[in-house]
Amino acid sequence: MTATYPFSAVVGMEDLKLALLLNAVSPRVGGVLVRGEKGTAKSTVVRALAAQLPQVAVVAGCRFACDPAEPDPDCPDGPHEPGEPRASRPAALVELPVGASEDRLVGSLDVERALTEGVKAFEPGLLASAHRGVLYVDEVNLLHDHLVDLLLDAAALGRCYVERETVSVRHAARFLLVGTMNPEEGELRPQLLDRFGLTVEVKASREPSERAEVVRRRLAFDADPAGFVARWVSAESELAARIAAARARVPSVELPDERLEQIATVCAGFEVDGLRADIVTANAAIAHAAWHGREVVTTEDVRAAARLALPHRRRRDPFDAPGMDESRLDDLLGPDNNPDDDPDDDPGAGPPQGKGPQDPGGPQEQATPQAEDRPGDADVDKPSGESVAKAAEPYKVGLLKVPGVGEGVAGRRSRGRTAQGKAIGARKPRDRMRDLHLSATILAAAPYQKERGRQGPGLLLKQDDLRETIREGREGNLVLFVVDASGSMAARKRMTAVKTAVLSLLLDAYQRRDKIGLVTFRGATAEVTLPPTSSVEAGAARLRQLPTGGRTPLAAGLVRAAEVLRVERLRDPSRRPLLVLVTDGRATSGGDVARAATLLRGTASVVVDCESGPVRLGLAVQLAARLDAPAVRLEELGTVVRDYRKAG
Ligand SMILES: [Zn+2]
Repeated sequence: MTATYPFSAVVGMEDLKLALLLNAVSPRVGGVLVRGEKGTAKSTVVRALAAQLPQVAVVAGCRFACDPAEPDPDCPDGPHEPGEPRASRPAALVELPVGASEDRLVGSLDVERALTEGVKAFEPGLLASAHRGVLYVDEVNLLHDHLVDLLLDAAALGRCYVERETVSVRHAARFLLVGTMNPEEGELRPQLLDRFGLTVEVKASREPSERAEVVRRRLAFDADPAGFVARWVSAESELAARIAAARARVPSVELPDERLEQIATVCAGFEVDGLRADIVTANAAIAHAAWHGREVVTTEDVRAAARLALPHRRRRDPFDAPGMDESRLDDLLGPDNNPDDDPDDDPGAGPPQGKGPQDPGGPQEQATPQAEDRPGDADVDKPSGESVAKAAEPYKVGLLKVPGVGEGVAGRRSRGRTAQGKAIGARKPRDRMRDLHLSATILAAAPYQKERGRQGPGLLLKQDDLRETIREGREGNLVLFVVDASGSMAARKRMTAVKTAVLSLLLDAYQRRDKIGLVTFRGATAEVTLPPTSSVEAGAARLRQLPTGGRTPLAAGLVRAAEVLRVERLRDPSRRPLLVLVTDGRATSGGDVARAATLLRGTASVVVDCESGPVRLGLAVQLAARLDAPAVRLEELGTVVRDYRKAG
């Protein structure tokens, strides 16, 4: 393959191309996660690659793209006979939109026909369409967690299972999964990150002429997508044939013991958790060898694989951006590592492309780690005038609830209708029935049996009769902490008490199975110190290191919180948020507080009032009133156990 790639001006684009090719060669590699800012032509590259995948032979008319040589025995359109007509078509490129429903993804079963006629009437979803092709998920980090789970399960099993009450359907769903994300909009949960085989980081070049070239090509693509791809195809017309040849070679590629040990050494050296990294690296190395026409895996193959398979798996603060120290990789690969011995122009063997240990996208380490170890609980002053207050032991806090009844995931905070709750009644299903309420369904159908012409013993059911169980228990919420870390808090030596309180609330949120997030404001701006996550460790670590100082941009904190909540509503709409605003109500910069507060109208909130001293202004109480929220004094958090409810 030549290196004259349309988007080579985008840093990481050669890595992306290689990652896609390795997946095209071996499905065992497990997909690609593309991290990077918007406007880096990620989707264009994926499209271009998909257009080059070898054609697939299918059983004519099968909606599940069965291979005539080896039809899926479970195929809902089957069973297929050996002599059935066949067809050949391009490998599919299917896009999963962020707002897709579960039905759209996995397909839908007609429960009425199943119950009344005993027919498995199944409408295939996007997973079926993507079989033997590419499934592309733009902004996978904004996809609802539940859909991400379904998606990754199907990707891991190569199979899609659809279960509804008494009926189940399964079909093959093997696809090259490509997800993209912009880390600034929130991270993927670490356990989901781990399930993508490879990661690639792309970013736009800072070089103006290269940026201009990217834009030019993007415009050319938008003006004529088919023509653009066709030009690329004709430039590398042998690609499909080479992919097909490499695929055929994979089963015979040998992975010698020395290479396997090399992989284990590299994975151990980068402190990755579990064995998955080793397995993915081995599969990617085999694919890389096959791609280069080798029968035996070399150190070069291991290096190329490790560069793509390990960055997101190395043990680290879960919210630091992935990244990898390439010289460390070379050290671990050992003395026989000769990255330049491959004459082929391999995009994976190129020089490090601006990558390194310095995690450019991650939050800055602003704290001195020694701060924690110094004696006494006094603030530790830094030369900049900032200080890092120490938190004391967390204590038990009272229960803060979101009012009303939610429909979020099971947890231990607010009232919620969840799958694990107690049955409290029945209702007509609003979208998809999951939990049949048998007696209510029979009762609904009973009056119409004669009218429907029932003769035998079987009950005649219609869709309209179906009733699902309503269950009520407790749900987990998204608890978003918005914490004032400005100088006014430090000056009053309040920050230790504030950190301890927030730490206590974090611990409480963890025990109640909430998602947590942390927005802090000080100096000129507010920042998302911890994007919403289930990791309390990450929250505690960020909080402990949080420096204090500077002015108080309270309004900026509120605006930032509103932004985080907007994205989370898209990502996880059923998880109701609870905003915990920790402030003394003062604002010395950052805009109009009253206006900013209107952005949070309708969000269940609690204001933790941190004001202290002999003269009190009551600003936090006023802000609470604006937010229609209760105000609770910092000192009360640990002693008062009661339900805080928003008025009305
Ligand atoms: Zn079929």
